[in-house]
Amino acid sequence: MPRRKNEEQTCSFCGRSSSDAGLLLTGVDGSMICEDCARLAIGVFDQQHAEKATSKFSLAKAQLPKPNEIKEFLDQYVIGQDDAKKYLSVAVYNHYKRILQPKDKNETEIEKSNVILVGRTGTGKTLMARTIARKLNVPFAMVDATVLTEAGYVGEDVESLLVRLLQACDYDVESAQHGIVFIDEIDKISRKADNPSITRDVGGEGVQQGLLKLLEGSVVNVPPQGGRKHPEQKFIQMDTKNILFICGGAFDGIERKIALRLNRHVVGFEHGNSQQYDNDNLLQYIAPQDLKSFGLIPEIVGRLPILTHLDPLDKEALRRILVEPKNSIVRQYTKLFAMDGVKLEFADEALDLIVEKAMEYKLGARGLRAIVEAILIDDMYDIGSHIDSKQKLVIDRLYAGRQIERNYSGMR
Ligand code: ADP
Repeated sequence: MPRRKNEEQTCSFCGRSSSDAGLLLTGVDGSMICEDCARLAIGVFDQQHAEKATSKFSLAKAQLPKPNEIKEFLDQYVIGQDDAKKYLSVAVYNHYKRILQPKDKNETEIEKSNVILVGRTGTGKTLMARTIARKLNVPFAMVDATVLTEAGYVGEDVESLLVRLLQACDYDVESAQHGIVFIDEIDKISRKADNPSITRDVGGEGVQQGLLKLLEGSVVNVPPQGGRKHPEQKFIQMDTKNILFICGGAFDGIERKIALRLNRHVVGFEHGNSQQYDNDNLLQYIAPQDLKSFGLIPEIVGRLPILTHLDPLDKEALRRILVEPKNSIVRQYTKLFAMDGVKLEFADEALDLIVEKAMEYKLGARGLRAIVEAILIDDMYDIGSHIDSKQKLVIDRLYAGRQIERNYSGMR
């Protein structure tokens, strides 16, 4: 609507003028809405959807897969990591068994057992959590702990974790209350200093305190849109007692703390019968006190009682990751080419080269895809022009090497 001189535009909902309320959006009839009112309206709609949604949470006790079945499913997608798979399968099974148990007031109450996975980046922590959620058909959300800040500071409140979970199941609150949340990089919210009072630790201890109440299980008000809480916004109430939290972190340098503890233990051992430790993979001896020395507050460590580790990926594991999982990188690219009628094959030596390069660039499994992409980019471009369907394309080591040198940006 054209603006007349000296006449200030006002929001048709709250009546505030644009100098108070900021930008106003105009409707076809000239009515206006300010940002605050628009957001409020969205919140009301979301709340309505949430109330109307019929719950899709339908896991029945008879359908709950047994731990060995969960592990077998994981085996199809995740290579190695047997310890972590076993711990996780049992934890998930116990978690849902506990939820599906009919309530009896006099019975022993089984406490929730959240999980913490410690292992280098790119070793399969997220993949494992995601795969389990798929097997159980429960909502899954993944959040990076580094974006979280203590309430009142720039960044996201811890409740935003639950918004992601709600979004993953179309605001079906009942389903979301039985979902799985994967919190990555939990090590990055470690206490910054031994004495937390010296400086304000907005992204560290404060966030841990905030997370604590979610991990324990409590009823929280979730802003449907995420972001900052807003006084006029309508909240969705969520109970976190049946949400399984799986935390993951690389905890760089924690091996030193583990070694220190193990050595102390050996020195204090009276019979002189010192144990041999595998120094190349000290993570396998990780214990809750190591997480505390790293800077997680004891209450958080206590709320993550299932602690397990992931092994570093060696050449053999990377080679298997390339070809074996149900949706392995090689299978995915073969399928992409097959869609155009082209039969793609990798020579064994070419696969060896891909693994060698991933090791050389210290990229772990994450690097495999980028390397394969660099090898195949020109062929993918030529499909339909220089490469006809029904053609067979064999990638040998020489060609793979040349393509990596030419196209892989990590080389430069
Ligand atoms: P992180 O441990 O950092 O959470 P991810 O699970 O995100 O690592 O792994 C990154 C990618 O690397 C995955 O999407 C997957 O393709 C591959 N990957 C990593 N570890 C494994 C594994 N053990 N088995 C199969 N694929 C893996």
